[in-house]
Amino acid sequence: MTPRGWALLTLAGLTVALVVTAVLLIPWHRPPAPRADQLAALRDLPAEQVARGREFRAALRPGGYAALAVGLLVALALGLTPLGSRLIELVGRPFGGHWAAQAVLGGLAVVLVADLLTLPFSAWRQSVLTRYGLSTNGWSGWAVDLLKSYAVSAVIGAVALFGFYAVIRLAPRWWWAFGAAGAAVLVVLLSFVLPVLVEPVFNRFTPMEQGALRTELMSMAARDGVPVRDVLVADASRRTRAVNAYVSGLGPTRRVVVYDTLLREATPAEVTAVVAHELGHAKDRDVAAGTLTGALGAAAAVVALYLLGSWGPLLRLAGVDSVAHPRAFPLLVALVTVAGLVAAPVQALMSRRVEARADAHALALTGDPDSFESMQRRLGSVNLGDPDPPRWEYLYSATHPSTVERMAAARAYAREAGR
Ligand SMILES: [Zn+2]
Repeated sequence: MTPRGWALLTLAGLTVALVVTAVLLIPWHRPPAPRADQLAALRDLPAEQVARGREFRAALRPGGYAALAVGLLVALALGLTPLGSRLIELVGRPFGGHWAAQAVLGGLAVVLVADLLTLPFSAWRQSVLTRYGLSTNGWSGWAVDLLKSYAVSAVIGAVALFGFYAVIRLAPRWWWAFGAAGAAVLVVLLSFVLPVLVEPVFNRFTPMEQGALRTELMSMAARDGVPVRDVLVADASRRTRAVNAYVSGLGPTRRVVVYDTLLREATPAEVTAVVAHELGHAKDRDVAAGTLTGALGAAAAVVALYLLGSWGPLLRLAGVDSVAHPRAFPLLVALVTVAGLVAAPVQALMSRRVEARADAHALALTGDPDSFESMQRRLGSVNLGDPDPPRWEYLYSATHPSTVERMAAARAYAREAGR
C-alpha cells in the first residue's frame, strides 16, 4: 500500500475514534429546561438589565463578524492564490531561501499579516468594552496584553513550524504520520503546560486567603471526591470587570481559579455555586476529555491536510508543486481556517452539553438552587450578557447554556427536590 493509502486508512481510523470518543464522553442526552420555564425566567429579570445586555451584544456584533470575514478572506487570499507562497519566498530570501527561514519566519509572517489586518477590529472591540465599562485596563494595558499574546503565539508557532517542516525533510514520504503523532502530543503537552507556564504571563495567581469561604470550598471538594490541589485567585480586575472561574490543568497541575472580581461582586454562597460547577468539570474529567478529542482532532487534521493538500487543483491555485514545501503553508492555513468555521457550531454544541452537566452537578452538590440562580443573574448582569440570545448566534457560537436556560434548570431542580 502507498503512503497515500495508509493515510486514508489512518484518517478513517482517527475519524471513527473521534466520533466514538465524542459519543461516549459528551452527555448528549441533556435537553435544555422547558422553553416556558426559560421565558418565565426571562420575565423575572429586570427589563433594564436585559435591554443593556442586548444593546452591548449588538454593539459587539458588527466588529466580531467583520473580523471573522476579514480573517477568512485574508486566509483564502494568501492560501488559494500564489500571494502567500510569494510572501514566504520573500521572507526567506535574505537567508538564501533556507527551508528553516521560510518555514519559521515565513510561516509567522503569514499569521502576522492576518493578525494585523484584523487588528482594527480587536481595537474596536476594546473600545466597546471600555465604553460599557467592562474593560478596566486602558489602551496601554490592552496593547501590552496584545504584544504578550503575540509573543506567546510566536514562540509556540516557531517551535511547531520548525518541528513540522524538519519532520517533512527527515521523512518525506511518511511525514504526515509523524506530524499527526506530533500534533496530538503537542495538544496534550499544551493542556498540561499552558496553565502553568502561560497563564502567569497574563495574570497573577495567589492562593485564596484562609477563612470560612476557603474552608467551605475545600471541604466541598473533599465531599465531592475531587482532588483539587488549590483554589487560586486571579487578579482579573486589572483588565476587566467581568466575573468568571475555571478549572485548568490535568492531574498534578489541576486547580480551580476564581477571578478576584467574582469574590468582590458575589456572595459566598454564589461563589460556592460557581466552584461547585467547576468541580463538576473536574469530576467528569472534562479537561481530559477535551484534551483527548483535541488530540485526535489535531492528528486527523494533519492527515486530512496531507490528503487534501496534495490535490492538484488546490496546489495550482496556491502556485506550489508540493504540500510538503514551506511555501504551501498559507494553503494549509486557508484549509484550517475554513475547517474551523465549519466545526465551530459542533464544538459549541458539545461545550454547551458539557456545561449543562456541570450545572447539574453544581445543583446536586450544593443543594442550593436559589444561590445558583442568583449567581446566574449576577453573571449575566455583570458580564452584560444577552440572557436569551438570538437562536442562530446561540447555535453557532454559544459555549454555555443561556442565562435563562441555566435559571430554568435551577427551577426544575428545585421542583424535583420538592422545595
Ligand atoms: Zn463550566
